[in-house]
Amino acid sequence: MKVFAGGISTETNTFSPMPTGMRDYTIIRPDDDVEKGTKPAFDQFQSDTEARGWDYVFGMSAHSQPAGITTRSTYESLRDELLERLEAAMPVDIVLLGLHGAMVADGYDDCETDIIDRVRQIVGPEVKIGVELDLHCDVTQAMIDTADAIVLYKEYPHTDVAARASDLFNIIADAAEGKTNPTMALFDCRMIGLYLTPYEPLRSFVDELLAMEGKDGILSISLVHCFPWGDVPTCGAQALAITDGDPDQAARVAQEIGRRFHGMRRELDQTPYSIDEALEQALADPAGPVVIADRADNAGGGAPSDSTFMLKAMLDRGIDNAGIATMWDPIAVQVAMSGGVGANLDIRLGGKMGPMSGDPLDLTVKVTAIAEDMYQEWPQQHGDPMRIPCGDSVCLNCNGIDIIVSSKRGQPMSPDVFTKLGVDVKKKHILVVKSSQHFYAGYAPIASQIIYMAAPGAVAPRYTEIPFKRVDLHKYPWVEDPFA
Ligand SMILES: [Zn+2]
Repeated sequence: MKVFAGGISTETNTFSPMPTGMRDYTIIRPDDDVEKGTKPAFDQFQSDTEARGWDYVFGMSAHSQPAGITTRSTYESLRDELLERLEAAMPVDIVLLGLHGAMVADGYDDCETDIIDRVRQIVGPEVKIGVELDLHCDVTQAMIDTADAIVLYKEYPHTDVAARASDLFNIIADAAEGKTNPTMALFDCRMIGLYLTPYEPLRSFVDELLAMEGKDGILSISLVHCFPWGDVPTCGAQALAITDGDPDQAARVAQEIGRRFHGMRRELDQTPYSIDEALEQALADPAGPVVIADRADNAGGGAPSDSTFMLKAMLDRGIDNAGIATMWDPIAVQVAMSGGVGANLDIRLGGKMGPMSGDPLDLTVKVTAIAEDMYQEWPQQHGDPMRIPCGDSVCLNCNGIDIIVSSKRGQPMSPDVFTKLGVDVKKKHILVVKSSQHFYAGYAPIASQIIYMAAPGAVAPRYTEIPFKRVDLHKYPWVEDPFA
């Protein structure tokens, strides 16, 4: 057997003020030498393929930090390169695609359906196509009609990228050997939101789904969480089931799981705190560090991550033992690096990307640390931690608040972003992370409590405030009981 693997991935926030162009994509080609943890799904596909004694061909992978719509020329150029590499590898028996599932390009509402469709046209009807997606995706009927198996991450934070890649590999490999015949079905849960898997009732539900797989003809069950900041007609939560040769069973399982997911909607719908509420609750906690998630400015959801609302509120209150990460401001990083460690500078920080970022702050800061080409490690269930580049990064102290500023836009996935710049996170009373949930795996073990906050920003955490124009909103929370 010969396996070809590749993919293009980003999550498109159609409300983000920033386009996604070629220079935003990190492209890994077969001859590129990359550090461990850079492409965990593909490393898993490779080791699983080699464990069966089969041939593995890595085509390419292209990934961009989420932002706005990908430009048409960028998407078409990346897609065509991936397809050319597949054509050059033909004949193959299996194609494994690592995609995101919420990628929108100019002229393409649904890049993943386009890619899967074109792959099918190249390989013909017999070759098995398996797709791994981020759970913040939209799965279309066209995708399940064209691919043989689609498996999503189950965990949010996504600590199971390699684990689910291995699940997908096994389903597709068994199908290619003729042992199974995967059949897929979808159920529309008629809701939109973000669903956090470390908390009940979802924690137990996800564990139950994992336990159901591999028994009674059920090959895989995925919850399609959806990505709420993509204004495309397919946006919405779903359940996806794969069974062995029984489409009716797949439809039954998808409906049963989807109905139960829908039944949890009110419990899953946490109302986030305002800035003032979050700070008051944090200041009332005698322990610490209290971790406050500034979800609206999460780079991982396509926000600029240079908003100043929270930093200004902390400075105005005179909070003097806190940290905040990660502010994207390449100009401020350049100025701080020119000044060097120990420099006292008057600096204009943040607030540059538009009204959703607030006003820039004119601050007097001390440069306390500089790290060139910094990276952070994000813990994963299987294999190496994921390696995430931060670019050049600095720590600026302003009245006791350590502000982590980076030249590369990205959310603080782990406490590395503080500790690598000399900040002792356990001694801070408040740590603000510009992240929706991916921070959780690294910060929960050190946090006295976690507070989810809704400041203004491009990833507004109150769903009914998202200015959708193209989504049918006969869904929760716009409609209390959409199945009534
Ligand atoms: Zn995601």
